[in-house]
Amino acid sequence: MDYYGIGFSNIRLPNDAESYIYKYNTRINQFPEEVLLHEFLHSLERNSKEYGYSVPVLHDYEKYGYKNESLIGQKRWYKDYMNKSIKATEGKIGLPEEIYTLKPAKSNNFQNAYKLEEFKEPENLIEEIKQILEQLGQKF
Ligand SMILES: [Zn+2]
Repeated sequence: MDYYGIGFSNIRLPNDAESYIYKYNTRINQFPEEVLLHEFLHSLERNSKEYGYSVPVLHDYEKYGYKNESLIGQKRWYKDYMNKSIKATEGKIGLPEEIYTLKPAKSNNFQNAYKLEEFKEPENLIEEIKQILEQLGQKF
């Protein structure tokens, strides 16, 4: 997933116990961990590019002869992608070994997109009244 071109990977699980995603079904949920791994690898793919490495595009598995297999999905592709062992005309390609030891290239990767004030407590009477009015507004 992508947030307006800034490239963050995000996995959101709805807070709903009735949702089918919490029930593992081998016919429907094939290699469910793939989602987590896939988004994490997007982060490493992006970091690699920002550091100037040439890396294959994570979605290009078919281009290198990999398949989306039943039950294991793209496991073989991810394994080779992480171990830099994808066979290509220019030799073995994949994520650079050093990427696992490097922090994101840009300092703005460490800043939140907006300030979280979810748990902010009122600091004076005006803020306190404002908070009460906001809470009343949500109920009525
Ligand atoms: Zn993707």
